[in-house]
Amino acid sequence: MYDIQSATTLSNGVKMPWLGLGVYKAQEGEEVKRAVRTALEVGYRAIDTAAIYENESGVGEAIQESGVAREHIFLTTKVWNDDQGYESTLQAFEESLHKLRTDYIDLYLIHWPVRGKYTDTYRALEKLYKDGRVRAIGVSNFHIHHLEELLKGCQIQPMVNQVELHPMLSQLELREFCRQRNIQMEAWSPLMKGGDIFQHSVIQELAQKYGKTPAQVILRWDIQSGIVTIPKSVTPSRIQENSDIFDFTISHEDMKKIDAINKNERVGTNPDKYDTM
Ligand code: NAD
Repeated sequence: MYDIQSATTLSNGVKMPWLGLGVYKAQEGEEVKRAVRTALEVGYRAIDTAAIYENESGVGEAIQESGVAREHIFLTTKVWNDDQGYESTLQAFEESLHKLRTDYIDLYLIHWPVRGKYTDTYRALEKLYKDGRVRAIGVSNFHIHHLEELLKGCQIQPMVNQVELHPMLSQLELREFCRQRNIQMEAWSPLMKGGDIFQHSVIQELAQKYGKTPAQVILRWDIQSGIVTIPKSVTPSRIQENSDIFDFTISHEDMKKIDAINKNERVGTNPDKYDTM
């Protein structure tokens, strides 16, 4: 973890950067293109999008125009709930690929654990993986019980679980479950969507102590905890700021202080209630 391109090694040997740019709610067209272009210029080498974000075309264009070789970028997208099921996932994958102007995806995820569907969806991901269309496969918003169900029947273990994770929702139990099975955890809404967490007294105190911003302290806590993180911003100065987390180390004692903030509080939907979103 020494610079912006440092990566974790997934269970199949594929390298995934610890830091990526999230693009949820970045508008299709100029806005998302500018964000991706800025991130790649700053040195980010991972982008997290999804079919439902409706900005895959802009992401694809920005990557193509960036001058950074495709093989140096780790690109994640996700199959949306309405497309789940075996055949429909294969079809959705082709559509994402087309929009993203690429012939492979680095990480393809099941966006939410749609009841009665996600095991079939996962079989499609396994096929894409075996066919060499994706370099890694995984899930998102899976609780332990979803993972247990999936692991019972799958042939290839998911390599990643991307979930809501931040100091107010530290997901300790799920992290331990995944650690034991070599499933890489990845944090969405790591900054709680830019809300009150920045004002928390512990985060404020540590920001002062380390001469960093609250966002940088939280993102550093992620990667030091062994969690891949994908903060979103379309503002160039923030994209830069969020990547400047590789020149300091939070002490063990201070890591514990951040761990203790947890209140099991979500800013997003509980995966058991995805259908009420
Ligand atoms: P986030 O926690 O990354 O917060 C983003 C917001 O925080 C920005 O819009 C901005 O307002 C603010 N912000 C960013 N950097 C800042 C800084 N340095 N200082 C002050 N404010 C700052 O929220 P998110 O976008 O919900 O999550 C990040 C990414 O995770 C998404 O873009 C998406 O790629 C992914 N995601 C995945 C799922 C899923 O279901 N798998 C759900 C939500 C998000």
